[in-house]
Amino acid sequence: MARTEKPLFRIAYTLYTRTRLGYMYYKRQMRKAREQYPAGHSTSQPMEFNGIKIIPVSVLSDNYSYLVIDTDSSVAVVVDPADPQTVQTVLEEEGVMLEAILCTHKHWDHSGGNKALKRLHSSCRVYGNAADNIPGLTHPLSHKDSVTFGRMHFKAFFTPGHTVGHMIYLLDGRGVGAPSSLFSGDLVFLSGCGRMFEGSATTMLSSLDTVGSLSDDTLLWPGHEYAEDNLLFAAEVEPRNAARENKYQWVLQQRGQKLCTSPSTIGEEKQYNPFLRSHSMELHLALGIQQVQDEDWTQFRARVLEELRKRKDVYNRR
Ligand SMILES: [Zn+2]
Repeated sequence: MARTEKPLFRIAYTLYTRTRLGYMYYKRQMRKAREQYPAGHSTSQPMEFNGIKIIPVSVLSDNYSYLVIDTDSSVAVVVDPADPQTVQTVLEEEGVMLEAILCTHKHWDHSGGNKALKRLHSSCRVYGNAADNIPGLTHPLSHKDSVTFGRMHFKAFFTPGHTVGHMIYLLDGRGVGAPSSLFSGDLVFLSGCGRMFEGSATTMLSSLDTVGSLSDDTLLWPGHEYAEDNLLFAAEVEPRNAARENKYQWVLQQRGQKLCTSPSTIGEEKQYNPFLRSHSMELHLALGIQQVQDEDWTQFRARVLEELRKRKDVYNRR
């Protein structure tokens, strides 16, 4: 089954990312989601730290865009504005100027609104990695580049694997006496990671290790609302993980009221997110994988990640 599925899947992926059909599919999904969820798929609470406000914006059927505002100067930045109309409504409600789009990767459900918003805000810059064919890109970024808007300081990290040019953005909290915030796109979700469409497990592991190296109090704002499914999958591979069970109970409560589950923290994720736990013995046992003699530890963890992602693909394709 998997063997015959793979080439077909590749063709579908190429059509989605390289042809107009992908764009038409995205437009259709956006129309359907606006009908199905006129008020968004989830309700989110904005978070504010000393004049820096973060607003998760529920778009499409399970995506989040994030508006980050310096309330002193009314300057705003948006991460992954997939539905330009919804994002524009929030910009107007907040009465702020859109100065930049930070795009994590080229997939339409993250980048589809770039051009429309740029048309509405002519001075708006579009940031992302040049390897990823991001619509409307004006300011290409490389690993560890910094960009500043008002009092908002972001650092970009090159994190390929999901796509060849995937980037994540870290909002530095130090200047405002707050924890930092990571906008992780489709690299890391609450208890999950993105599919490895365009990179090997070794590449993805190195990107995940970038996330794992951030301080534990960093807030995690991912690109999708996948928490409930992801924690159920995590239970299959680490059944005795108490931190995962506690988080799952909390997520069930939140989702029962359609509340957004962002943000979690990097410290929490390290406790239950199996994709950040390729070192875990319980995980190795559940996957039936052992380090062979003379096998490099990083190579071994990449093998664990590959098997884990394969199992997740079979479990569900998120
Ligand atoms: Zn994606």
